[in-house]
Amino acid sequence: MVEQDYYELLGVQRGADEATIKAAYRKLAKECHPDRHNGCRDQEARFKAVNEAYDVLKDPQKRAAYDRFGHAAFRNGGGGHDPFGDAGFNGFSDIFSTIFGEFMDPRAQQNAARGADLRYDLELSLEEAFTGVEKTIAVQSMARCESCHGRGCTRTDHCASTCQTCGGMGKVRAQQGFFVVERGCPTCRGSGEVISDPCRNCHGEGRALAERKLAVKIPAGVDEGTRIRVAGEGEAGVRGAASGDLYLFVHMKRHPIYAREGTTLIAECPVSFTTAALGGAISLPGIDGNKVELKIPPGMQSGEQLRHRGAGMSVLNGRGRGDLVARILVETPTRMSAKQKKLLEEFRATETGDECPAAKSFFARARDYFA
Ligand SMILES: [Zn+2]
Ligand SMILES: [Zn+2]
Repeated sequence: MVEQDYYELLGVQRGADEATIKAAYRKLAKECHPDRHNGCRDQEARFKAVNEAYDVLKDPQKRAAYDRFGHAAFRNGGGGHDPFGDAGFNGFSDIFSTIFGEFMDPRAQQNAARGADLRYDLELSLEEAFTGVEKTIAVQSMARCESCHGRGCTRTDHCASTCQTCGGMGKVRAQQGFFVVERGCPTCRGSGEVISDPCRNCHGEGRALAERKLAVKIPAGVDEGTRIRVAGEGEAGVRGAASGDLYLFVHMKRHPIYAREGTTLIAECPVSFTTAALGGAISLPGIDGNKVELKIPPGMQSGEQLRHRGAGMSVLNGRGRGDLVARILVETPTRMSAKQKKLLEEFRATETGDECPAAKSFFARARDYFA
């Protein structure tokens, strides 16, 4: 394996000062951090190499040794010598946690046996979102094993003994060149214990695939995309370890009357041209089951809207309600009797143009434009 020069790797001069090295490292490490590349092996290798380089160059002692002996300074056995030993150097896991704490999921590091979080997509009607609702959902996931009550073994006295591979640490350390790399113990899968008489139902895991019926409470006011966390109802942990959480993702069904913008309910209301002209009233079925009466003032235009305060959706985690908005669309009659046509002809004969000021002013402007 060809080892790249540490200075070259970080793209700095040999005599570069600490701040320059640090800045170069931070930039590179962010660039090639595995979280950004979805497990790309090349980037992962590069990320490791960059970390190796920085770990040496940030330390004046190690840097001096590197400057004198090159990579040989940090090779174990094989003729090289390790001037620092293991003490004071804790491998990658420490570099990760000190420098990349913000990128890492702390729970994943702390407890590998914790159950995974689950997602459940829940479709609600507008009425259900308005009042809030309790739903029973069926979740298929790893659940606590009923045969062994999550213990993982059939015996009740002495169930687990300390894992010999890792001495109960749940992690094993491996030397990789100069670096000590920690990983989960393959024997006990991180739990630090081995089961003597594993439960047949769950093979010692203390959890098995099952369907659970779960009653979940949906608060009033949820909307498309609202996420509700149900603590502890995710996948069961390994042998009694903490369960993950369940996340409900709310989706809204289409409503025959209302569209929704936040807490505002919006209805497109076609209104007859006579009602728009003479005024009148319309009635809408409120989301709470009550009628909402809206007064149409005489001369209402298409596109104008009427607002009824407090007749909208409930406010999530809050009080009161939003508004109901009726967007008026004036409908021109398409089917008229001979008598109705005659009445409208008579009306037209009396028109002066002042009845519709917008039309009058528009055509006046159009005439001026020609002239
Ligand atoms: Zn079991
Ligand atoms: Zn182990």
